[in-house]
Amino acid sequence: MSIKSNLEHIQSQLPQHVTLVAVSKTKPISDIMEAYNAGQRIFGENKIQDMVEKYEHMPKDIKWHMIGHVQRNKVKYMASFVSLIHGVENFKVLKEINKQAAKHNRVIDCLLQIKIASEDSKFGMSPNEATTILNSEDTSLLKHVNIVGLMGMSTFTDDENQIKNEFNSLKSTFDTLKKQHPHLHTISMGMSGDYNIAIESGSTMIRVGSRIFGTRNYSN
Ligand SMILES: *Cc1c(COP(=O)(O)O)cnc(C)c1O
Repeated sequence: MSIKSNLEHIQSQLPQHVTLVAVSKTKPISDIMEAYNAGQRIFGENKIQDMVEKYEHMPKDIKWHMIGHVQRNKVKYMASFVSLIHGVENFKVLKEINKQAAKHNRVIDCLLQIKIASEDSKFGMSPNEATTILNSEDTSLLKHVNIVGLMGMSTFTDDENQIKNEFNSLKSTFDTLKKQHPHLHTISMGMSGDYNIAIESGSTMIRVGSRIFGTRNYSN
């Protein structure tokens, strides 16, 4: 299947309220241009340097999403153009994004990453930490970041019940927070293997890589 037909297939399954982020990490610009020419405009990368390089060489109407672990010392490289940062793990990262966004006179949209998986290797904060960040006065002083929702990754497992429970827990954290913070609108959850379950659980944004671009080859 071509990149174009993969994209069309996924798009045809998506409810209108669900946004597709095409995860292009490790993929060459020629592949990303194929998706672009098929109409895709939102791309996700998990390494800041890679995203910067692709941004520089590609059409400027692309919305670039940082979906990976955010290294604080590299935020400055993406602050002028990044459209949404999914993986904010703590207040220090938020503060750095605010500082760098201010230099470009921008307000950068961010998601707080919640740890819903049972694996230690997955990043993220607890629902309590997210509540603290959203309610704190220190956060309200950060005028150059806008927290618009939550992001989570499920455990890498074949157990669909476990995945569903994890996504449901993220949705319920979101619903609780939204009562106090009605402007929250995005739940980023669901990847190639589990986006259908994620959508059933209330996802509004899925991050799909291999189902669009094919399996990744990390050696090139
Ligand atoms: C790589 C990655 C994805 C996409 O993974 P696929 O299984 O290829 O769809 C989604 N989210 C994050 C955070 C990723 O790192």
